[in-house]
Amino acid sequence: MPTAIEYFKLLPKTNCKDCGQPTCLAFAMQLANQKAKIEDCPHVDSGAKDSIAEASAPPVKTITVGTGNTKIPMGGETVLYRHERRFINPIAYALTVSDECDDIAKRVDYVKSLQFDRIGMIFKADMVSVRNDSKDPAKFKTAVEEVMKLWNGPFVLESDDPAAIKEAAAVSKARVPLIYGASADNFDAMIAIAKENKVPLGIKATSLEEAVALSEKAKATGYDEIILDLGAKGIKDILEQQTIARRAAIKKKFKPLGYPMMNRTGSGEYAVMTAVISTLKYGSLVIFDDLKNYEALPLFTLRQNIYTDPQVPIQVKQGIYPIGNPDEHSPIMFTTNFSLTYFTVRADIEKSKVPVWLQIVNTDGLSVLTAFAAGKFDADHIKAAFDESGILEKSDGVVIIPGLVTRISGKLEEAIGRKVIVGTTESKNIPKHLKQITSA
Ligand code: SF4
Repeated sequence: MPTAIEYFKLLPKTNCKDCGQPTCLAFAMQLANQKAKIEDCPHVDSGAKDSIAEASAPPVKTITVGTGNTKIPMGGETVLYRHERRFINPIAYALTVSDECDDIAKRVDYVKSLQFDRIGMIFKADMVSVRNDSKDPAKFKTAVEEVMKLWNGPFVLESDDPAAIKEAAAVSKARVPLIYGASADNFDAMIAIAKENKVPLGIKATSLEEAVALSEKAKATGYDEIILDLGAKGIKDILEQQTIARRAAIKKKFKPLGYPMMNRTGSGEYAVMTAVISTLKYGSLVIFDDLKNYEALPLFTLRQNIYTDPQVPIQVKQGIYPIGNPDEHSPIMFTTNFSLTYFTVRADIEKSKVPVWLQIVNTDGLSVLTAFAAGKFDADHIKAAFDESGILEKSDGVVIIPGLVTRISGKLEEAIGRKVIVGTTESKNIPKHLKQITSA
């Protein structure tokens, strides 16, 4: 991405303030921090605008698979390390549906079942890849049509045979599937199909050098909606080649490798390790033969960690979290939505074996004392959260305020019209405190 000075050189330097900034330099700094758009300056000439647009385009092109609210953008990355800014578009995971499968509906149901609710966030398998194992174009097309009825998310058309891909793409192009894969042997036919149907193309190279050659060939046709499979032969290769490719794209601005990258893998431990490496090092899509439930959850959790913005605290959603099957007399506890606070408090409540309604208050991810100091965890905010969830109607149990904010207990009592008792200052003492309260 250009620096503020590089942007500044292209601006009119009149300091007219029409962009809402006091000077052109201040506006250039906003551009560099991606807090403003070049369109906000009405005086930039079109030549400078084009130069800025080209210079500020992400070094890894964004390629989108699918349509509507289930579409998946891939790539668009601007940094090598997440702490430099953040990674943009999370890697997607796809599971294979063979066109020889006897029960496609059951298989698609299995893919749908790979879904987990983790503290209000839904982790799931993202795509299916319909694979032309039968080598029969008609059978492949029928399987694609059946999958389209059962699966409303993005999908892959997987075949080396341009004839099979052509028929399947014709019936599915409105859903913008990814065609996979174009190799050195079938490239001309595959890129023509992708271009005609306006769908992205997965390039299946056998080496980094071949990936570069095929990428350049795609660019020369005027259609570079492509995703690169670099042809890595194993985990070490994936790590090495995808790192080389991404460094070349970001540090050297080497455009032939400035595209999302994908891997095809099998099933079992090695496949999961492949996906782990690809998740850590720049992959945008992994297609599995199969993925078990117990393999999926840790992998999806890893993805969440890698693609979380390190500059924004991880948060949980405001709302009620029942712990241990609470009833209409169970205690009500509350804390902030900083996820570390939530997990710690939740774990300590669980240890007590006392059923509790835990109300989470949105504090923009700040912990208890920081949120209190910032005015985001006061009686008004807590009452608003209680009102929104209706927790006080659900239970007439005691309301326990975190010991760190005892000073607002009086105001909170007034606000909610219910007695409030003071809890512990440290989460680890919650089990003992809860047992004392409930045995009294
Ligand atoms: Fe400079 Fe354009 Fe902003 Fe005017 S509107 S101060 S010319 S950047």
